[in-house]
Amino acid sequence: MTLTGAGTVAAVIGWPIAHSKSPQLHQYWLDRHGIDGVVVPLAIDPAQLEQALRALPALGLAGCSVTIPHKESCIPFLDEVTPLVTGVGACNMIKVSGDRLIGDNTDVFGFAENLRLGAPDARWDGTALVLGAGGAARAVVAGLAELGVPDIVVANRTVKRAEQLADQMAGSIKAVAHGNVSIRFVPWEDISALLPNIRFLINATSLGMAGQPPLTIDLSGLSSDCVVNDIVYQPLETDLLRGASARGCVTVDGLGMLLHQARPAFKAWFGIDPTVEDQQRQLILGST
Ligand code: NAP
Repeated sequence: MTLTGAGTVAAVIGWPIAHSKSPQLHQYWLDRHGIDGVVVPLAIDPAQLEQALRALPALGLAGCSVTIPHKESCIPFLDEVTPLVTGVGACNMIKVSGDRLIGDNTDVFGFAENLRLGAPDARWDGTALVLGAGGAARAVVAGLAELGVPDIVVANRTVKRAEQLADQMAGSIKAVAHGNVSIRFVPWEDISALLPNIRFLINATSLGMAGQPPLTIDLSGLSSDCVVNDIVYQPLETDLLRGASARGCVTVDGLGMLLHQARPAFKAWFGIDPTVEDQQRQLILGST
């Protein structure tokens, strides 16, 4: 690690923050490129979010990653946001430019890039079924729209939340969508009936994650042409991915989303678009 008084300092802010993999993830690239810099974890009390953000330029920070619970609440304190932040309703990366704070959403890129690389032969048409309607599901929906998927269906335990997602994003996502896109919602009970006709299935709920209840859906109707992605990465091979793989589907795990969302942040702060490497993947896997 190289860090001098002339080094570039960035941060990751959340509350709590101890669990964050971001410092480790960025440190790998800082070492790889011999950059004089660091990404420090900062636990920011939600009640002091505005003061903390306003201090970033004065402290000379290059920017920060934003994690739970600040991804939505930081937006009013930013000077500028990208259309993606507006479309998704969440910001996970801030760049300091002079004394201005510019917000972006790199979860969308992380999701889309991971899917693109994990399913290189996929045709981005047909219907995608997204399970979940939380913050991560919003980034997934935007990523699918950016990839060009024209028909996105959202199923969530709490139907109201899926309805809100579809209503809000249907208009705002046009700015980033690749072509026309329809976003609609269905009740959770309709999932099985949809499986034979979908081209993409994405789990964006916390179901199946270590310590959470399992995701129990009957995959018997799932077509082997369907690409299945679980954004849960603890465990790396979830029951959903195992079941889909047994049916002959191309499957994509969730760790790549975490790794690739960090790339635009690193580029914004340190000026280099880094490459996700297998050794880095193993490092992060070993620490989860
Ligand atoms: P969130 O906003 O809290 O949303 C959680 C989602 O899971 C909601 O749709 C919720 O449904 C659903 N859910 C939770 N418990 C459920 C249950 N018992 N039955 C049915 N549905 C249930 O969380 P988030 O930020 O969107 O994150 C969701 C998951 O994505 C987490 O596991 C997180 O680790 C993962 N994630 C991964 C990455 C990555 O880089 N790979 C990035 C972000 C998030 P209700 O609306 O009905 O509560």
